[in-house]
Amino acid sequence: MLETGMFPHKQRVFAHVDRNAQAIAQLGDALYYFGELGMQEHRSAGLMADILEEHGFEVARGVSGMPTAFVASYGSGAPVIAVHTEYDANPDNSQTPGVAEHSPIIEGAPGHCEGHNVNAAVMVAAGLAVKRAMEEHGVGGALKLFGSPGEEQIISRPYFVRDGLFDDVDLAFHDHIHREFKAEYGMMQYSVISVEFVFRGETAHGAYPWRGRDALDAVMMMDAAMAQYRGHMEPTMRAGRVVTDGGAQPNVIPARASIWWYLRGATAQQARSLLDRARACAQAAAAATNTEAEEHLLAASWPVRGNRTMAEATQRNVELVGVPEWSAEEQEFARALQRKAGVEAEGLKTAPVPLDGPTTQNPSGNDCGDISWVTPMVRLSFPSNVPNIGYHHWAAGAALATSIAHKGAAAGAKALAASVLDFFHSPALVDEAKRTFKEEVGATVYEPLIPLHQRPPIDRNKEAMAYWRPRQEAHYLSGRPVFV
Ligand SMILES: [Zn+2]
Repeated sequence: MLETGMFPHKQRVFAHVDRNAQAIAQLGDALYYFGELGMQEHRSAGLMADILEEHGFEVARGVSGMPTAFVASYGSGAPVIAVHTEYDANPDNSQTPGVAEHSPIIEGAPGHCEGHNVNAAVMVAAGLAVKRAMEEHGVGGALKLFGSPGEEQIISRPYFVRDGLFDDVDLAFHDHIHREFKAEYGMMQYSVISVEFVFRGETAHGAYPWRGRDALDAVMMMDAAMAQYRGHMEPTMRAGRVVTDGGAQPNVIPARASIWWYLRGATAQQARSLLDRARACAQAAAAATNTEAEEHLLAASWPVRGNRTMAEATQRNVELVGVPEWSAEEQEFARALQRKAGVEAEGLKTAPVPLDGPTTQNPSGNDCGDISWVTPMVRLSFPSNVPNIGYHHWAAGAALATSIAHKGAAAGAKALAASVLDFFHSPALVDEAKRTFKEEVGATVYEPLIPLHQRPPIDRNKEAMAYWRPRQEAHYLSGRPVFV
């Protein structure tokens, strides 16, 4: 076992985080009220990039053709350690924080009901603490923080990997909000392919429908074909969809209709085979309706995996930091929220989850999957959310700009910063992570699921945010987080 105990650098990063607790809270809260949908996180990314630039990071904005993506770098030489996280909100997830009942800030508006606002605050806080420690201790190597937009649409990080932004990275950390405080390794999440099929026919008057070719018929037939196939899919496959265009009004036969799929599989190969089936269903639906099918592969990510060496090192810091001490009011708020959401009212967790083996893979996805196949990667889950409540439900947003989120973020930033520094301080630990990573990946050959010349879909939420942003502005917090 390699030593990653209580070096003095940890005391310093812990003190740095404590000193900046208010700024960390303010940053997460600011993003909460921005509530920006994927690829439209202009305020969120801008604020983080500005803060990091002001504190001596070199910031490249708009990387990989995504205006709300950035890379903030500090230092040079080896190793190169990356931290990456997301900051997008979700549609119709507006929720007033600190209120234990469904109470949108703005009815129907986007909002944070998963906690990516807190993920971002933790990355920035840890990044600033690590940089300060590197300066004070003369630590070599480079730290790169990847602002990774559009996670809910599985967009940004496969593009980063495809475009070579991770070619020089030795190790990567991902931080994500959770109900628990823990590090994990093994296969964690599924592969996801985001693909839209657009069908094109011909308009006609609805009273003379035989004169047209109905694109909506094709959408419905594709959906029916996929629904039949669901009964024969392997248990580790999923296919979810929304109809993104079903025509405009009933007396005009739709010449255009579209259906958007998230195809999930426990392996990249399974997700790919589901895509093959979806293509066949789309072609069959087009043939049956005398329409034409177009495929738009929007984004695709590999399953997320975690490296054991990195997880063990990170877990030691999780246990060193410990779960925050929750007040009676915080516990009571959590229980009230749990009761209201109809789940077990057990309150907040009070101890970290031990690391006693590989994790259980779950069918959700995260676009950081590709990174985890090209470099050793670990995810730190930090305790800023209320147990038993599923993400994207209003109740999952209620704690995200409260003292629960703030305390959990500080704990997360400490564990993350300490873990990154452990690897900067120990070349042997870096080598060990690379060795176990090779073993874990085995014979699997990574190839991006997104095509070589595919451009990221950056405009999908543009109109929605053009509508909501002016309405949200009235609720933005005043004041700007000041890190010292
Ligand atoms: Zn997430």
